[in-house]
Amino acid sequence: MDKPPHTVVRRMPWPETQSHPVVTPFQPSVVYSSPSPDALDDQYEGRASGYTYAREGHPNADVLSRKIDQMEGAPTSGMIHGSGMASISAVFWALTKTGDHVLGGNQLYGRSLRMMAEELPRFGVETTLADPTDAEAFIAAIQDNTRLILLETVSNPTLRIADMKPIIAAARARGILVVVDNTFTTPAGMRPFDLGADIVVHSVTKLLAGHADVTLGYVAARDPEVRQQIYVTSVTMGLTPSPFDCWMAERGLYSFDLRFERAQENAAKLADHLAGLNSVLRVIYPGRADHPDAARAQELLGTNPGNMLSFELAGGRAAANAFTTACPDVAFAPTLGDIATTLSHPASSSHRALTPERRSALGISEGFFRVSVGVEPIEILIKEFTQGVAAASAL
Ligand SMILES: *Cc1c(COP(=O)(O)O)cnc(C)c1O
Repeated sequence: MDKPPHTVVRRMPWPETQSHPVVTPFQPSVVYSSPSPDALDDQYEGRASGYTYAREGHPNADVLSRKIDQMEGAPTSGMIHGSGMASISAVFWALTKTGDHVLGGNQLYGRSLRMMAEELPRFGVETTLADPTDAEAFIAAIQDNTRLILLETVSNPTLRIADMKPIIAAARARGILVVVDNTFTTPAGMRPFDLGADIVVHSVTKLLAGHADVTLGYVAARDPEVRQQIYVTSVTMGLTPSPFDCWMAERGLYSFDLRFERAQENAAKLADHLAGLNSVLRVIYPGRADHPDAARAQELLGTNPGNMLSFELAGGRAAANAFTTACPDVAFAPTLGDIATTLSHPASSSHRALTPERRSALGISEGFFRVSVGVEPIEILIKEFTQGVAAASAL
């Protein structure tokens, strides 16, 4: 007997209910159907709201970016990209052209440095790096064709504090756009828009998402036209974030304040503890009075110097190996902002491409570690780090 045809190939309507889920829904749809061509016109021309194609935007990205907008005090709505570098790329590709000049801090995130050194020059964009802890020298590097300035408030991995206020003021006076990568600082430490920055970017991958399980970026701009340029370029270049990653990151944000406060409290205690140990040559933590930019850290970050600290062991590479081997439960992994503590060794990872001379000019020896402090009970961290330092000094 012939079986009757069925339509399981078609989508079933989602059940209509009077109650709503408490949790943000996850929506992976690539496309959205509209009632008619006229209705689609209304969407494209802004008379009606609605999504069309996920590369152009999707609800999980929007929910996430609205939350970060709120944290940053963003003047226009921000957007999410597939990685922090996608956000930084979007800014450069949208806003620079052949003949422009970009000025950047000399201790930016490694891939941003590479963007300045390798990628932008291929398209005829001139780039210069200067030391943003010296505002006068940095401002002197501005050229007539400078279009953008890229800054990070806290440098990687030596945690120096850029002299943001005079640099931003000088850029504004010349109509140059200031882009601040606020990944290390987070909006809990500093909100660049409040200081006059034009564009804020984040690697959401780090403290905002907070669990080392998604890769995403965020960018927001002050000026609506600049925002639109970045948006259009992003859609054309396909810097789209995955809805699932956006959903995960948004989930991470619920606990951001709690994680940040606890990690920062741990960082301050661990920094003080390390500073008291023999064979720790120096500890760099922006919240300590002996930090080289302590006053500026206080001025810009107030009571929130963050969860990042660096320290240097006597004994070079052998001491570094002994340290990581003696505290195997602290993940030796080149990232930051995970819920638990991670340790990075710039000489063998982020800064391995530099000559030893360049590294030592930056203050990065073979015994230098950067720590992204997590939310573990502080007693455990102190015990593990003490064990690591003891093993390093026993050599
Ligand atoms: C990690 C990081 C980036 C790049 O972000 P991804 O999400 O890894 O692409 C940019 N800037 C800073 C300061 C970072 O720490």
